[in-house]
Amino acid sequence: MDSKPQKPLPPDLPLSRPYWEAARRGELAVQRCAACGKLRHYPRLMCSACHSLDVQWQPLSRRGSIHSWTVCHHPFHAAFRDEIPYTLVTVDLEEGVRALGRWTGGVPVMGAPVAGRFEVDGERAELIFDPR
Ligand SMILES: [Zn+2]
Repeated sequence: MDSKPQKPLPPDLPLSRPYWEAARRGELAVQRCAACGKLRHYPRLMCSACHSLDVQWQPLSRRGSIHSWTVCHHPFHAAFRDEIPYTLVTVDLEEGVRALGRWTGGVPVMGAPVAGRFEVDGERAELIFDPR
């Protein structure tokens, strides 16, 4: 019997389902307001600019620059115990929204250019940022 804890899956919710479906295809897709065109991430029901509920999904370049970063020393889920410490970066994407992902480089440098990709394992998809 395998006693190693399994990494959790994201909840299957209509609001975020298109994000995860795109992620499993290797695409970083975010919401675009169908009324005014404003991009938003993470998924939300309503546009903060015009209050429209109409939404489209748009794949992004996955390119950006490091806005902030942190090193995780505490496993917030037992399945990640063997992976600590690991580094997370918040990235200002070229299209104007921010995304959080795992960092693969050395010590992150604020403003450094990065490229994102997804590591897909079954239903799981993890956003990874590499130096570029
Ligand atoms: Zn809008």
